[in-house]
Amino acid sequence: MTDQSPLNSTTPVTPAADDTSKVPSMPVFKDSDQGKFVMGLAQINRQSKEKAVQEKAASLGLNYIDIAVTPINSDLLKLIPAEVAKANLIIPFYRLGTKLRLTVAHPTNPDTLAVIHGLQAQGLLINLNLSSEEGIMEALRIYDSNQYIVKKEINTTLDETQIKNFEKELKELALLGEKLRNVSSEEAVYLLNVGAIRAGSSDIHLETESQYVRIRFRIDGLLHEVSRIDKSIWGNIANQLKYMSNLKVNVTNIPQDGRFFFVVNDRQIDVRVSVLPTEFGESFVMRVLDSGRHIVNFEELGYSGQYLQKIENLTKIHHGMILMTGPAGSGKTTSLYAMLAKFNKPESKIITLEDPIEYHLEGISQSQINEKGGYSFASGLRSILRQDPEVIMIGEIRDLETAETAAQAALTGRIMLSTLHTNSAIETIPRLTNIGLPPFMIAPALHTVVAQRLARRLCTNCQKQQPIPQSTLEELQKILEIIKTVRPSETITIPETLPVAEGCEICSHTGYRGRICVIEMLEVDFEMKDLILNKASTTKMIESARRKGMITMREDGILKVIQGLTTLEEVHRVTAN
Ligand SMILES: [Zn+2]
Repeated sequence: MTDQSPLNSTTPVTPAADDTSKVPSMPVFKDSDQGKFVMGLAQINRQSKEKAVQEKAASLGLNYIDIAVTPINSDLLKLIPAEVAKANLIIPFYRLGTKLRLTVAHPTNPDTLAVIHGLQAQGLLINLNLSSEEGIMEALRIYDSNQYIVKKEINTTLDETQIKNFEKELKELALLGEKLRNVSSEEAVYLLNVGAIRAGSSDIHLETESQYVRIRFRIDGLLHEVSRIDKSIWGNIANQLKYMSNLKVNVTNIPQDGRFFFVVNDRQIDVRVSVLPTEFGESFVMRVLDSGRHIVNFEELGYSGQYLQKIENLTKIHHGMILMTGPAGSGKTTSLYAMLAKFNKPESKIITLEDPIEYHLEGISQSQINEKGGYSFASGLRSILRQDPEVIMIGEIRDLETAETAAQAALTGRIMLSTLHTNSAIETIPRLTNIGLPPFMIAPALHTVVAQRLARRLCTNCQKQQPIPQSTLEELQKILEIIKTVRPSETITIPETLPVAEGCEICSHTGYRGRICVIEMLEVDFEMKDLILNKASTTKMIESARRKGMITMREDGILKVIQGLTTLEEVHRVTAN
């Protein structure tokens, strides 16, 4: 701001240039999205006027803002009554903590200055900007018209120092609630997300109670209460979250779904937000998808021995259907990605249909399903078959149409990867039959079924070897005997001691860090194909699979307990059904 600024002597307004540097992570909006803010033909006529205002702003040392195409946090508009905003052509459009960015048409007008003084009296630091009268009128009209539900993607880049500070501050997650109290609502949202990423959490749950809001993180599959938010600051955080996720801020009585993303250390973090009206206010669940995470390989996932060899061999097949099964949160998608990474070679075309795309894979065409828009797994699958792929991955098989098209693709020389919600590998066959897929299609199309669960891995930092309790030992021995009848060649012995983890700072005092798959793998060989065609009972199918060395998820888990990777309690927990 120059000395000629009319505001300089009359109001202690924060200088524009200086303040811009203090307002980090201003949302960046794509040009294509801005088009959606533009309403009507008036825009065209305004262009020359806008240019004049731009020049005027420069001469006054103010920032020029084309406010009609600038997204406004609708909450901020409440800072100034609508009549006052209209009469004085003034709009608050961005706020970070106590810093408020305002745009006005007449910066020297006494009424304008009176409004600014009023805001300053509330403790706000004002950063003043200049817009045209028409721009402000149009922006206010857009807001009034109730069409201010804009489709946009907020793409914010958080700078590294900010992240590092957040990380430092979040050494103890329990302090999160307190930290949130001292930052702006936008920073609070990032603090929550950075906290979750740091803790290795996939989901953030914000649950409103009568007196407070509970923050829980899902870490390695289980929810942990990490902190609480005071109700006095919750309203602003909730509104900020809704604003960033492109949700209707003023609607609180129906569920809403949205998303936003931000960039940390060149990694895009995609956050899916779901809001549900509950007894004491809206509760939020945020799914944090870190697309920059590296794709884990099968060894890291916990595949070993015979199962590792089998899954590695799958990448040499030329057609057939490979299904990953298990309930939600059993790591099916992670394993499918590990497999896609194996299939990913320059000479093969791979297309995926996903909902949502959880990781980005170089060299693979990934396509996002849009059920509401009519782009479903079934319709998408028909389209991608025309793209001549060698390998297809579809997020899930839910209906007959998808199952049939997928089976057809597998029968006509493609490798088809997908997931299904079944409890065990064998159950997949009756499930496909129940969906309506005839045995004469299942038998030739199906190649392999993998059922898996995720057990928490013992923390390697705080584990100590302990003698095995008698009851545990007995169970391990009993199941090991069964495993040896299925796989006589296995030479496994139970050690004298097994690790026990008491918890440390690294594992958030849970004793576990990371997860490991417990697996059961069914190969659909000729004998199994015959059984399917003859509509044999599942008992017969299990007998056949056992003769070929199929151990169950629980048995595989027991092997991992014996190896000291997880605990018996974990294996019981994840294989309970
Ligand atoms: Zn630990």
